[in-house]
Amino acid sequence: MSVSRATSHHPILSTRSERLLVLGSLLLVIAILSIVAFLLIRERANAEQSATRAATNIVQLIDADVLRNIELYDLSLLGLIAASQREDLKSVSPAIRHLALFDRATAAPYKGDILLLDNKGDVIADSASVEPRKGNFADREYFQSHMTNRDPSMHISRPFRSRQAEHEWRISFSRRVSGSQGEFLGVAEAAMRLSYFDQLFNSLSIGRDSSVNLISSDGILLAQEPRLAEELIGKDFSNRPNFQRIVKEGNGSFTGISSRHKDKRLYTFSKVGNLPLIVIVALSSDEVLSSWKRTAVVVSVATIALCVSLLWLTWLLCRELRLRYHAEQELAQLAATDALTGLANRRTLDQVLRHEWFRAQRSGQPLSLLMIDADHFKAFNDRHGHQSGDDALRSVAKVISANVRRPADLAARYGGEEFSVILAETDSQGAQQIAEHIRATVEQLPLVAGAESRITVSIGISTWTTSAEIGLEQLLFAADKALYQAKEAGRNRVVAG
Ligand code: GH3
Ligand code: MG
Ligand code: MG
Repeated sequence: MSVSRATSHHPILSTRSERLLVLGSLLLVIAILSIVAFLLIRERANAEQSATRAATNIVQLIDADVLRNIELYDLSLLGLIAASQREDLKSVSPAIRHLALFDRATAAPYKGDILLLDNKGDVIADSASVEPRKGNFADREYFQSHMTNRDPSMHISRPFRSRQAEHEWRISFSRRVSGSQGEFLGVAEAAMRLSYFDQLFNSLSIGRDSSVNLISSDGILLAQEPRLAEELIGKDFSNRPNFQRIVKEGNGSFTGISSRHKDKRLYTFSKVGNLPLIVIVALSSDEVLSSWKRTAVVVSVATIALCVSLLWLTWLLCRELRLRYHAEQELAQLAATDALTGLANRRTLDQVLRHEWFRAQRSGQPLSLLMIDADHFKAFNDRHGHQSGDDALRSVAKVISANVRRPADLAARYGGEEFSVILAETDSQGAQQIAEHIRATVEQLPLVAGAESRITVSIGISTWTTSAEIGLEQLLFAADKALYQAKEAGRNRVVAG
């Protein structure tokens, strides 16, 4: 029995559209995820870039401010040196002389004291008081340097702690005072309090976990805003890898792990003018990316929800398709099958016969047709009842389909108690063998309860070969005729037309 052959192309179609659907939505999901990932990665890079830009601006602002201040210091020093060498000022009162010496020194904010030292290092003029304080600075590195070096340019010291206030860091600017022959007369020195930077940093708005740092090129932290910890000022950072990298690179920015906070930071840094100072803006990566992270979470959740819904819809659609496909299959099966026997019905028989007929015409292979009719079935029905008749028909159908096994063959219920068998690529002899086998097997079927005679069938065979010039109608007619002859000849027999 091969009713399914009539609908056999359906499964391929259905699974193909299902596969297309699944493949399409998977590609769509991959595309959506890729686009969103690309945008998020780009947004993140943008956030880091604009943070770096802001940090660079801060660093440059500090740089410019410091340079302007150093110029003011230098002007003070130059003024002090010029005034100290005027002969006419030697005879005026100490108060007037003080005024003249430190005339230009008032402009520098956060300045420390400005001192004039003689060639022994003793203080001979002091901006802090008309009567210079007692003190000798001959041991200072800048004094030593000016003494031995005739270079008249400004000397910038390393940061040092003030002698008067231990906690206060200073940096000093100094120039050599030379005589007319270039002999060493002393040093003009101005000290800048590094707390000046605190005030400068204070005006900058920066995240809570981020900081602006002033660090000497030796690695000593001099100022920090906001103060992350009080005891950090004066601490040596010279052995930290991040600091070493900053010193090596001079200006620039990079992302590194803070050795103190163990988190990711975006460092932007620059040398301050030509001072031995470095400004470092350390932005906490978390702060820089906090807004991006919020966006990323919202966008990711929405995207995942979208993708999940898409896949869910696809699954629903696939299930619907499959249900419909099965329903269609069932309908097709029903439409092609005879309800009582499960064999193909008359409609299918017609379709398959036509199909096989044309196939045989093309291939030249023989095609045989069996017409099978139950003998005296009216009488059987009358004696045993219609129900038993149906049972008997089912038994006969079973015997027929058991003998028709090749895929191209078809057993069908032609109508009533008549059956038909299409035997593709089978000549008359082969068909007779099969028919004889069917006839003999039906004859051997067990007796219906209470019956004294067996069910038998008569079978007519017609065969198309290349030598027989007949049409499809005649093939059917020939089989009918052979069946009629079998009935005539006494039934329960096979006749080949
Ligand atoms: P014969 O073919 O040997 O000449 O005699 P017959 O009695 O079989 O011939 P006929 O074609 O006159 O009778 C066919 C009978 O088959 C009529 C009907 O009672 C019975 N029949 C047809 N279809 C069915 C069916 O679906 N179920 C049952 N139980 N009987 C059927
Ligand atoms: Mg009959
Ligand atoms: Mg009949």
